[in-house]
Amino acid sequence: MSYLFPTYARWNITVKEAKGSWVTDIHDKKYLDFVSGIAVCNLGHANDDVMAAVQEQLSKYWHMSNLFHQPIQEEVAKLLIEHSDGDAVFFCNSGAEANEAAIKLARKHTGKTNIVTFLQSFHGRTFATMSATGQEKIQQGFGPLLETFTYLPYNDTEALDHLGTDVAAIMLEVVQGEGGVIPAQQEFIQKVTETCKRIGALLIIDEVQTGIGRTGKPFAYQHYGISPDIITSAKGLGNGIPVGAMIGKSSLISTFQAGSHGSTFGGNPIAMAAAKATMTKILNNEFLNEVEEKSNYLIEKLYNIIGNHPKIKNIRGKGLLIGIECNEQVSEMIDQLRENNLLVLSAGPNVIRLLPPLTVSTKEIDEAVEIMNQTFAENKQSIIAH
Ligand SMILES: *Cc1c(COP(=O)(O)O)cnc(C)c1O
Repeated sequence: MSYLFPTYARWNITVKEAKGSWVTDIHDKKYLDFVSGIAVCNLGHANDDVMAAVQEQLSKYWHMSNLFHQPIQEEVAKLLIEHSDGDAVFFCNSGAEANEAAIKLARKHTGKTNIVTFLQSFHGRTFATMSATGQEKIQQGFGPLLETFTYLPYNDTEALDHLGTDVAAIMLEVVQGEGGVIPAQQEFIQKVTETCKRIGALLIIDEVQTGIGRTGKPFAYQHYGISPDIITSAKGLGNGIPVGAMIGKSSLISTFQAGSHGSTFGGNPIAMAAAKATMTKILNNEFLNEVEEKSNYLIEKLYNIIGNHPKIKNIRGKGLLIGIECNEQVSEMIDQLRENNLLVLSAGPNVIRLLPPLTVSTKEIDEAVEIMNQTFAENKQSIIAH
């Protein structure tokens, strides 16, 4: 008997505690966590620096509202701006809220309503962000949706040729996360930016999953040498304390005035303390280079050890957002990996998604790949029997 709406297909695990890359359940079974709260706990669970920063803020004050000046908001905004192409920040509490703010800003700034997004994208569960999401299964039963969204095929440069000047913004993830860990091709991103210029549309990059070091850069768009008008961030920003941010270019700042937009909890000082500590730790070359090295190590290891398994079609990703595409549904395999003490996610029906904490050690990577190797070996029979 549960008192909760059954909106989640929950695993049969009840967590007792979690630290670093490890989760312990109430039966004292230990799991190596390659989910990280879905790309949230990038510094691992219960990170000491973030904990200290949050505790310090807890002892000062918890919440004031945005009627007051709060210098810690300026400090966090400065960090975001120094590591992105943006010039001003709006704080909120989640990825969907960050994307809502982006959509509102784009409409108000351009005076246009149409927003172009992509098939298999994921932008959130509110009305605007659900409408932006190019997946019918997310939208089913909730119609009518906002009518001003159109979905183009991802990585298809020609589809962009048909867009006209009625478009307010093109919005996309540079690696589709929920949609199957699909990195954008360079020529596609190039064409998107050219198209934005041609039709006078803003470029919104949804970095909710890919941002804050996950791909080895502060933001994943920085792999592509582009300069978006709006960037949204959330998941990894507070290492587990809820916080979201919408970052915009200077030309957009005056579009939002006092009263244009707001959030009671947006910029909450406890969330800001967590975000400041998280970014201070992650956003430097030494840390980010290590993410890149660990990524190369993990991907190479996956290729060498399980790459030839008949079930595996493709291994891909950026940084420590990695997808293993299989030629059948992966839900049973994910259950088996969990039995064998490794927590991983799916991304669409056929892709196993790995999101280890960015602090994962090479020993832990070895351990995870060994569990995958064993679990895939246990599974060889079923594929032969088909
Ligand atoms: C998770 C996610 C969102 C939604 O974030 P919430 O915090 O759940 O609202 C939006 N965009 C992308 C790319 C995501 O991965």
